[in-house]
Amino acid sequence: MRSFRTVLALRVAGGITAGVLIISVLSYLALKETLDRELNASLVNVASIQASSLTEDPSGIMRFHEWELTPEEAASVRDLNRFAQVWSGEGVSLLRTQYITTDLPLDDDGLRSALAGELAWTEGVFQGIPIRSLYYPLERLGELHSRHVLQVAAPLESRDRMLGNVALFLLGLTLSAGIASFGAGWWLASRMIHPVDDIIDQAESIGVDRGRRAIEAYADTREYQRLVQVLNGMLSRLDSAMEAQRRFTADASHELRSPLTALRGELEVARRKERSRQEYERVLDSSLDEVERLSRIAEDLLTLTRSEAGAVVPQEEVVELGTRVGDTLGRLARKAGAKGIRLRLVNEGPVTTRVDPDHLDRVSWNLLDNAIKFTPPGGEVTVTVVEENDKAVLSVADTGPGIPEDRIPQIFERFFRLDESRTPGEREGGTGLGLAIVRALSELSGGRVEAANRQGGGAVFRVLLPLMKEPS
Ligand code: ADP
Repeated sequence: MRSFRTVLALRVAGGITAGVLIISVLSYLALKETLDRELNASLVNVASIQASSLTEDPSGIMRFHEWELTPEEAASVRDLNRFAQVWSGEGVSLLRTQYITTDLPLDDDGLRSALAGELAWTEGVFQGIPIRSLYYPLERLGELHSRHVLQVAAPLESRDRMLGNVALFLLGLTLSAGIASFGAGWWLASRMIHPVDDIIDQAESIGVDRGRRAIEAYADTREYQRLVQVLNGMLSRLDSAMEAQRRFTADASHELRSPLTALRGELEVARRKERSRQEYERVLDSSLDEVERLSRIAEDLLTLTRSEAGAVVPQEEVVELGTRVGDTLGRLARKAGAKGIRLRLVNEGPVTTRVDPDHLDRVSWNLLDNAIKFTPPGGEVTVTVVEENDKAVLSVADTGPGIPEDRIPQIFERFFRLDESRTPGEREGGTGLGLAIVRALSELSGGRVEAANRQGGGAVFRVLLPLMKEPS
C-alpha cells in the first residue's frame, strides 16, 4: 500500500533538489565563465606589456620586462606567474622568461593563427600542471618581428582548485537540500495526517465510549469541517436507524406477547377441570380469535419488512381506479351495513393508474376498514376517485372522530395507535400496522399518502398515484 507521507516527502524533496541542482549548475557555469574571462584578460594584458617592452633595449636585443626574483620566490607566487616565450615562425625558441628552465609546450595551430595576425588560445600541460596559453602576433613591432610570436601562459591550478571546491560545496548543498526537504515533507505530511487520525480515533471510540455520540475533533477547522459533519451526519442516521430497529423489535415482541399471553391464560383455565361442551367451544373460539390476530400481525409484519427491504417487486398493471376500489368497497359492504354505516363511491369518469392491483386492494381495504372501524353507527364513508394535478387520487373520508392534528405525522408509523377507547364497541383492536403498510405499498408504486381532518369532522386519507393518460 502506498504511504501518503512517503509520496509527499518524495515529491517535495524531488522538487526542491531539482531546483537547487539547477541553481548550482548555473552558478558553477557562471563562476567558471567569470574566472576564464578574467584569466584571458590578464593574459592579454601581460602579452601587450611584454610585447611593448620587448624591444625597448637600444641594442635591439629582445628582453622581457621582469622582476628580479630567485627561483624560490618565483615558485611561491607561481599561481600569479605568467610565463612568456618568443617563438620564431618555424617554432624555434628565441627568448624565454627567467622563471622557466624549459620550453613551454608549443601548439602548431596556435602558432599558425598568430602568424596570420590573430590572437589564439590553447590549453595544455607544462611540467605537470595545466596551463592556458595565448599566442600573440608580434608583427606590429615592426618588420623585424613579422615572423615572431609571443606565447604567454598562465597556470590553471588555482582556478581548477577553486572550481573543484565550489563544485564540491554545491554538491553538498544540493544533497543537504534534498535530505532536509525530504524530512520537512515527511514532517508536514505527518502533521497533515494527524487530524485525520484523530477524527478516525474518535469515530472508532463511538459505540465503545458510551459518552461520545459525535466527533468533536477538528469540527471547527475549515478544512476538516465537512468531513466531520458528513461523518457525524452518517453516525446520527445510523444511530436513529438502530434506535428505530430496537423500538420496532420491542414493539413487535410486545404485540406478539399479548395475544400469546391471552391464549395461554384461556387454555390453562380450561385445562384446570372438566368443562361442558359449550365452555370448550367458547374457549376454542376465543383461542382461534387470538391465533387469527397473531397470524394477521405476522403477515402484516412480513409484508412491511419485505417491502421496506425492497424485497417486494410490484407487478404493475394499468388499472381503472374506480372499478378496482369499487370491488373492495363491495367486499366491505356487509361489515359497514352491520354497523349502520353508509358507503359511497364518487367518481366522475374513469381514472387510470399503473399499480400492482393486489397492493392497491390492500391499500384501499386498510383505509376503508379503518374508516368503518372509527366511524360511529349512522355515519358515512365516502370514497372519491379523481384526477388531480397529473395524479390519480383515491380519497377515503369518514365521519368519525378524526385524528388530533399533532398526531397526524405519527399515524403512519409502525405499531402506532391512538387511544383504544376512541373506538367504542370495537372488540378487535388493530395491529397498528395497517397505515404503515398503506404508506409502504403506495410508495412502492411511486405514489404517496397523506392524512387530514375534514372541515365538518372526520378523517380523510388521500392516496396519490401516477396518472396514466388515456391515449387520445
Ligand atoms: P390499526 O390497525 O390500529 O387501525 P393503523 O395503522 O391502520 O392501525 O392506524 C393507526 C392509528 O391511526 C389507529 O390506531 C387510529 O388511532 C388512527 N386512525 C387510522 N384511521 C383512522 C380514521 N379513519 N379515523 C381516525 N383515526 C384513525
